[in-house]
Amino acid sequence: MIARPEITPPSAEAVARAGALLQAGELVAFPTETVYGLGADATNDDAVRRLFAAKQRPQFNPLIVHVAEVEDADMVAELDDRARSVAQTFWAGPLTLVLPRRSAGPVSPLAAAGLNTLAVRVPGHPVARALLRAAGRPVVAPSANPSGGVSPTTPLHVAEGLGAAVAMILAGGRCPIGIESTVLDLANEPPRLLRPGSVILADLEALIGPVADVGVITEPRGVPRAPGQLASHYAPRHAVRLHATHADSDEALLAFGRDRLVRGGMTRLNLSPDGDLHEAATNLYAMLHSLDKSNCRRIAVMPIPNRGVGIAMNDRLRRAAAPRDQLHQTDTP
Ligand code: AMP
Ligand code: MG
Repeated sequence: MIARPEITPPSAEAVARAGALLQAGELVAFPTETVYGLGADATNDDAVRRLFAAKQRPQFNPLIVHVAEVEDADMVAELDDRARSVAQTFWAGPLTLVLPRRSAGPVSPLAAAGLNTLAVRVPGHPVARALLRAAGRPVVAPSANPSGGVSPTTPLHVAEGLGAAVAMILAGGRCPIGIESTVLDLANEPPRLLRPGSVILADLEALIGPVADVGVITEPRGVPRAPGQLASHYAPRHAVRLHATHADSDEALLAFGRDRLVRGGMTRLNLSPDGDLHEAATNLYAMLHSLDKSNCRRIAVMPIPNRGVGIAMNDRLRRAAAPRDQLHQTDTP
């Protein structure tokens, strides 16, 4: 019997085999510069269905379609001059664009959860791009973790979270950015920031003018416009307490910057002792995964400056700390 999943370094041979597995409708996990993605052939209804099932992701939550080249985006979505200029500036990279969907395009309608828009990204990670080229088709790839949980930034996180549902994990080390892509909606006027990430609002506005920062919004019937907009998401098993200036004896402490004066905590990890936000973002999910394995009652998190990629970190931490009721209502298929 073949043990699943196969965890393998991304040699040329392994990437070619991973591409063939995707073509055969299997699920393959791979590194991107943001987090590990769980890939499926975006043009294959059954593969997309299998992906929703593996993550236990509600089917109303649309997926991001990944393509290898900027030009490939035209196959799946409609890019006007503004979209083209954003794509040329930020792709390949950690920015997802929500665009009008090409209804006659090759992507399974299930991927867009029935919407007439489609989220598209050209990832910058060399392994991700090599895999997309090997697959030779658009690939849907949400984060490779059970829906609602902490995103994976190492191959081990993927194996622990999804295990046998994945045919192969391309083990490309730790994700350099460590936080999910910025999501910019260009299908509405004015453009809207649906999810903050490492491409920040000011950089987008410098190129295309005002962008509405929408935060948490829900569609008329309570269907979230985007999974990242669920109030509870990105949540570890343990409860999370924010803005901690001390830790109780049964809490684990997730520190930021100088923490010598912060008392308490049965286990302590520091996102960045030097207070570097990029280093902190890279470490955020790995440290949450690690503290979640300790037998603490709760994870106390020190304040993180709300600037640059710190805005995205605070967004994810707020959702990690949010009450779980909404998660349980919406994240159970
Ligand atoms: P993840 O599950 O981490 O891949 O997150 C997927 C993200 O894709 C969500 O947070 C949404 O912001 C975004 N998304 C995908 N499709 C759409 C769409 N058609 N409209 C708006 N957002 C979308
Ligand atoms: Mg996710």
